[in-house]
Amino acid sequence: MAYSDRIRGAYQATLKGIEDAGLFKRERLIHSPQAADIEVEFPTGSPLKKVINMCANNYLGLSSHPEVIKAAHEGLEKRGYGMSSVRFICGTQDIHRELENKLTAFLGTEDTLLFPSCMDANAGVFEAILTKDDVIISDRLVHASLVDGIRLCSAMHDTIKHSDMEHLEEKLQLHADKRFKLVVTDGVFSMDGDAARLDEMASLCEKHEAMILVDDSHATGFIGRTGRGTHEKCGVVGKMDVITTTFGKALGGASGGCVSGRRELVEMCRQRARPYLFSNTIAPVVVEGVLKVMDLITKSTERRDKLEKNAAYWRRGLTEAGFVLKEGDTPIVPVMLFNAKLAQDVSRALYDEGIYAIGFFFPVVAQGQARIRTQISAGHEIHHLDKALEAFVKVGRRFDILGKTKQEIVAKYGL
Ligand SMILES: *Cc1c(COP(=O)(O)O)cnc(C)c1O
Repeated sequence: MAYSDRIRGAYQATLKGIEDAGLFKRERLIHSPQAADIEVEFPTGSPLKKVINMCANNYLGLSSHPEVIKAAHEGLEKRGYGMSSVRFICGTQDIHRELENKLTAFLGTEDTLLFPSCMDANAGVFEAILTKDDVIISDRLVHASLVDGIRLCSAMHDTIKHSDMEHLEEKLQLHADKRFKLVVTDGVFSMDGDAARLDEMASLCEKHEAMILVDDSHATGFIGRTGRGTHEKCGVVGKMDVITTTFGKALGGASGGCVSGRRELVEMCRQRARPYLFSNTIAPVVVEGVLKVMDLITKSTERRDKLEKNAAYWRRGLTEAGFVLKEGDTPIVPVMLFNAKLAQDVSRALYDEGIYAIGFFFPVVAQGQARIRTQISAGHEIHHLDKALEAFVKVGRRFDILGKTKQEIVAKYGL
């Protein structure tokens, strides 16, 4: 037997180490569609409990929207279930191209290519457009999928301190001898909820002849006045050379992603990006769902406007209650607890109060930066937010963290 006791024992010891460190993640089983109100089985085997979901990426509340579901049903009837092919063999339907064109218009770019996920878009894009004569300069807090995509590419890699524009300019000068320079950032950073300074980055890139790539997964559909993304918020629509984003968050939340941007760069991905060439095409039912989402959010900004109001209401409530938050103005509102076990305990206590909000800790965030990341949705009504706030206050009081500084929380609970 190849999977010997020695091998099994080693993995068991590693897993026990994860558990002993308070870093073990347990999944909670949801028995209902994704929405503000969900039914959850937790711990596994317990009776179902109705709770308010405060941690989905369902920013626009479209994950279970009746019109999206209807469009997906119709797509299933008209275009079938699966394509059983990658795009370039026999996996491209008219609707795949239609969605690419809609995304191009929405994002204000020149062309778009669909990927099975944004993780795949990021895994494929760098290798497709860069060589060993080039350099990638990325923000130190970019998403794990960008880190992996950069690893898969032969270009040199350098980083800058988070959102530090002086450091960026220094690095652009340092790498002036390279053939091409590509600056890489998240639009909205997923763990902290702060937005990149894309206007300043775009100016620096112009000055130093560098390209810029932004992963706008936590922004597409709702950041900016008409929800086009962080580039709209920063007034630089048309200046992003590459945008990668996901359909797995605000845009209906099923799956899929894309690379959008300069015509030649997108074409290079069509020719060379390995997850595009070697992984199955997005199912027609998902394409039809995302097409409907694009229609809904192009016609009206009602949902992103409601989301903005909800997020401001929630942030104000938590601030007034005395929690330590990460500053920002996006629907990602991290409640800082610093200690991993405390984050898990608070999450569990919130659950008992009917609130679903997960603790984040190492390796998802840095050591000593554990938190509960709350995420607001247009699917929330004020009564959801009020009930959640009441629960947060009750639990915060029980753990004695209200009105306490980081130092006081760390002194009590450790790092
Ligand atoms: C969620 C996320 C991804 C992954 O998107 P998928 O489509 O689920 O693979 C990539 N980048 C960022 C910044 C994300 O937040």
